[in-house]
Amino acid sequence: MTQEVSDSKIHFRCSKCQAKYSALPEQSGKKGICKNCGAQIKVPNPDSASSKAGDAAITVRRIWIPQTLASVMLAWALNPDNPYGYYILLRWVCCGVFAYLAYQAFDQEKQGWVWALGITALFYNPIFSVHLNRELWSIINVITIGIAGVSIFALRFEND
Ligand SMILES: [Zn+2]
Repeated sequence: MTQEVSDSKIHFRCSKCQAKYSALPEQSGKKGICKNCGAQIKVPNPDSASSKAGDAAITVRRIWIPQTLASVMLAWALNPDNPYGYYILLRWVCCGVFAYLAYQAFDQEKQGWVWALGITALFYNPIFSVHLNRELWSIINVITIGIAGVSIFALRFEND
């Protein structure tokens, strides 16, 4: 069965302001500027557009893996027998993960999360190390796991 071209317009939204657009299938992959907010928009291919946002699905999938990685590493860091090198690795991973998440929050215009995640990233930055005793770090690690866990839902919510 062939697709009816006249009836198969691609419906999609601007990823920034959610303005609605439609385009012909042959325009798939073309780029343009959103008339509403000026962001760059791209006509998706017909398959991903009809399932309401292949984009959103990708974002959701992309965004829980770093939190989980950071949480597992933070939980493991509570074990007092870890070598010092582990904490250096932990700093790099946490700084990277939370900087990435802060960027995602910025992209989704979640100001509160930009701050929370950005400050967390700074706290773990490996260049200007924050020196605290082990007990304090343990508490902060647990809090960070909480931030990571809640951010999975907070950042994902925007895309649903
Ligand atoms: Zn827009």
